[in-house]
Amino acid sequence: MATFKAIRIDKTNEGQTVGLVDFDEKDLMDGNVTVNVEWSTLNYKDGLALTGKAPVVRRFPMIPGIDLAGTVETSSHPDWKAGDRVILNGFGLGETHLGAYAGKARVNGDWLLAAPPGLNGRQTMAIGTAGYTAMLAVMALEHQGVTPDCGSIVVTGASGGVGSVAVMLLAGYGYQVVASTGRSAEAGYLQGLGATTVIDRQELSGPVRPLAKERFAGGIDSVGSTTLANVLAMTKYGGAVVACGLAGGMDLPTSVAPFILRAVSLIGIDSVMCPMPERRKAWSRLASAVDRTKLGAMTEEIGLADVIAAGPRILEGRVRGRIVVNVG
Ligand code: NDP
Repeated sequence: MATFKAIRIDKTNEGQTVGLVDFDEKDLMDGNVTVNVEWSTLNYKDGLALTGKAPVVRRFPMIPGIDLAGTVETSSHPDWKAGDRVILNGFGLGETHLGAYAGKARVNGDWLLAAPPGLNGRQTMAIGTAGYTAMLAVMALEHQGVTPDCGSIVVTGASGGVGSVAVMLLAGYGYQVVASTGRSAEAGYLQGLGATTVIDRQELSGPVRPLAKERFAGGIDSVGSTTLANVLAMTKYGGAVVACGLAGGMDLPTSVAPFILRAVSLIGIDSVMCPMPERRKAWSRLASAVDRTKLGAMTEEIGLADVIAAGPRILEGRVRGRIVVNVG
């Protein structure tokens, strides 16, 4: 019997239980590639899965973990052979398919990407879905023609995972970055990542007017709700705002005014089912754009067993930057 350590979520009539278990390899789901998982990460969605606060897990038992980096053990997929270094973000991993918080994962080879050259497994997972989403958001702003000379870009939830990587990337590309945070103590951290200005998130969470003073050329938002609505109302004529998340709520109490009176664009990002060419582009750009020193400074490392306690912490907004999980 081949077993490995895994975090397993079970559901009973009394509710959800989560524990570190010895998982039997024969109980992995179907897939044409088996990966020895070395690194994973903790994203907001993993927090939702671990705590059961939102129904992201669609099958029980479930091994959570939406991101992995590892080495192919066996493969019947034409693109992969034993020894290949790979990464996987999303595609239902940790939601509908047994996920990354385990010594092994058996997956569909179509979901895998070759590990980006120049980044080791730990670094790819320090970036993780949060960082790859931040890059998709930056690419979306560029696609809309929002360049550094258009004006400043606001990043909400700036001390979190998506926010921290977005601040670092935008600053690296020469944008003026306004970092919005509820944690004034993190102002120095955000400036260290390249933020030009740090504002209190309360400036963006008050009552929403259809239009407000034009402040930002664009925005990357991981908060949603009134924060996103206020950012839209404060976006300059022709600007664009990228909606990535819902850390502050799933609603969006806005009006059509920013769209029809200021030609503002609202762009959605989905990392889970994002097409492969877009993923490759995002990871290739991450490999060249990410400042390794800044990435190191925003990353905390934990072990597999620590993941369970870290779940509630990320939902409470108490994680700064990124958490990388040493699975190996
Ligand atoms: P984090 O918890 O690391 O960051 C979220 C940040 O939002 C917090 O650090 C905090 O920043 C801020 N925040 C938290 N609660 C509130 C609140 N009630 N009101 C206002 N601000 C709040 O999570 P991630 O960065 O990993 O993910 C952020 C969001 O993006 C999540 O909703 C996640 O589900 C989503 N996401 C979406 C993806 C996609 O494909 N669209 C992919 C990845 C993530 P601060 O303290 O600085 O204010």
